[in-house]
Amino acid sequence: MALIAILFVVPVRADASPARVAALQAALSGLHLYAGYVDGIDGPLTHRAVTALQRRRGLSVDGIAGPQTRKALGWRGTPGLGSRVMRAGDRGWDVAALQFLLQRAGHGPGRADGLFGPLTRAAVERAQEAAGIGIDGLAGAATLAALRGGSGSGSELVSAPSGPVRFLRPVPGPIGDGFGAPRSGHLHTGVDFPVPYGTRVGAAGVGTTIYAGYNYGGYGNLVVIQHRLGYTTWYAHLSSIATAVGAQVEGGTLVGYVGSTGNSTGPHLHFEVRRYDTPIDPVPLLLTALAARPAGTGSGQAAGECAGRARHEASKRPQGSDRIARERLCPTSPQPASR
Ligand SMILES: [Zn+2]
Repeated sequence: MALIAILFVVPVRADASPARVAALQAALSGLHLYAGYVDGIDGPLTHRAVTALQRRRGLSVDGIAGPQTRKALGWRGTPGLGSRVMRAGDRGWDVAALQFLLQRAGHGPGRADGLFGPLTRAAVERAQEAAGIGIDGLAGAATLAALRGGSGSGSELVSAPSGPVRFLRPVPGPIGDGFGAPRSGHLHTGVDFPVPYGTRVGAAGVGTTIYAGYNYGGYGNLVVIQHRLGYTTWYAHLSSIATAVGAQVEGGTLVGYVGSTGNSTGPHLHFEVRRYDTPIDPVPLLLTALAARPAGTGSGQAAGECAGRARHEASKRPQGSDRIARERLCPTSPQPASR
């Protein structure tokens, strides 16, 4: 009997849906126990972080995020997804899970930290608009069902349009430095297009601008676009930015102009593709076609809260490089990347 009870108490691991794993990762990340990506994949890093937490709190060390472990996560471990209607100002496990679902469906907010702020609200509204349900910025059952594919059954594998993700080239011309090229202290996280100063940069595909401003981690003037299925594209070192947070873009929509801001030795476009915030080699995903749409086809509607705050920031801070800047997107005050 005791054995049966144990079997049925086994939590998160047994039905480790990606959203639950993501909420767990976000919580562990917030406690500085997990340095990996919030990708919803229950891998060795996640397991190690759970056991570290359990050891630290004197819990039985089984690597499973059960009730005691969830409790040890503090506000980050509760409440469960779907137990309440989430709204701006809320925080917790369910918010992190929601953010992961939003990101996977291509609505942002850029990262899952368990805090329901303006970017999350804007992402919820985009998801509601896309799903054709009432746009109120409140994440309740209908919104969650839409993000999970409308089945409401908890199936989370059908939330977004399927099919291969391919990207248009943001600028013409060949690629210079490739993905993974050695840099001082790290590997190149994108590809470089050596094109002249002022070359127009087009969005690589349909999506939403989730960052448009100066990045102190080395990217300089940076635009990040959220696409479906958890992909983001990054356009760095821009001389100027021509989009704003919340803008809906499509392939070829003007997002900025090539420059040399940030840690850059000369005009070029640093282009990055990330899946769940993990940089990947863009080349296999690039179409040969250029994003050649005429300028200004985005709706240009800004979500407001931080759109273009640092857009005209011109100062160059010689630090970092094209390294991964693990900073909060759209910060209230830009901070240097911590790693
Ligand atoms: Zn680069």
